[in-house]
Amino acid sequence: MSVISDTVLTYLPAKRKQTPSGWLSFNAPCCHHNGNSADTRGRGGLIANPDGGVSYHCFNCGFKASWQPGRNFSHKLRKLLQWCGAPDDIINKVALEVLRENEGVVAQSRIAALPEFNTVPLPDDAVKITDITDFNKHSLAILEYMAGRNLNTDDTTYYWSPSLGYRDRLIIPFYFEGRVVGWTGRSILADKKPKYLTEVQPGFVYGLDGQTYNKAFAIVCEGQLDALHIEGCALGGSEISDQQAMLLNRLQKQIIVVPDRDSAGKKLVERAIELGWSVSLPEWNQEINDIGEAVSKYGRLYTLYSIANTAEDSPLKIRLRAKKWFG
Ligand SMILES: [Zn+2]
Repeated sequence: MSVISDTVLTYLPAKRKQTPSGWLSFNAPCCHHNGNSADTRGRGGLIANPDGGVSYHCFNCGFKASWQPGRNFSHKLRKLLQWCGAPDDIINKVALEVLRENEGVVAQSRIAALPEFNTVPLPDDAVKITDITDFNKHSLAILEYMAGRNLNTDDTTYYWSPSLGYRDRLIIPFYFEGRVVGWTGRSILADKKPKYLTEVQPGFVYGLDGQTYNKAFAIVCEGQLDALHIEGCALGGSEISDQQAMLLNRLQKQIIVVPDRDSAGKKLVERAIELGWSVSLPEWNQEINDIGEAVSKYGRLYTLYSIANTAEDSPLKIRLRAKKWFG
């Protein structure tokens, strides 16, 4: 037994039958939440394993949720408990307990610890975009760039620096728990190399502070500017380190990965599947390669809607869709 199996068994419908193979069957609580009519034929099945894991399967609407010791408390398990009528404070307590246990296991094995991030300074003479008083061709070009890319001053605190190495770059601070722990300076000149000057610490995930408790899911993309458009998180590349995965799993939300439409994005999809996360490959025009381009064409609201609406968590369906999407 475990805190999970105890809680699930407490809140499942009281009217249950046990099959010889150990499955409990009862009227599934999930179906009408998934667009099906309510189950009256006892098609919900749950098995509790001796190690404390549980596995739920609905033979009516197809909804599944499971947990095994050492695994995260998934958003699907949370939904199942909610649909069974478990109060949110109980669910949160259980989720926290699982998280603590898992962190204990991880700490003991010393495989990976949660990364810590030091506070770092922004580039020399950096000023907030909204505080610029020195309007010259460089600072004006920055403002023009922002307008052309649909970037607004209320997305985050953008910076600009008049110093030589930075005056043609839009500076985006990296925050963690409210502190500046890194930044990137994106060149606004098409031919300027490197495109990004970045100060980043290992394991960092951009945008974690914005993933507040009231959000049901967290969208994870590659670039910081893309993340800003949809209030998501950015990996800062097309790979997910174990530390980044830990930080994102800690959010205890559905994680929806949106890759760029290129060969690195294909690999990112496989990594997301490996981590048990959702992947969204939205129905955008074929020439659109990332979130920034989608926002230019469709606007922020539709882009966000199309991402949420096509999020998929079945590996089979993700791979089928990826074949078409990457072309
Ligand atoms: Zn169901």
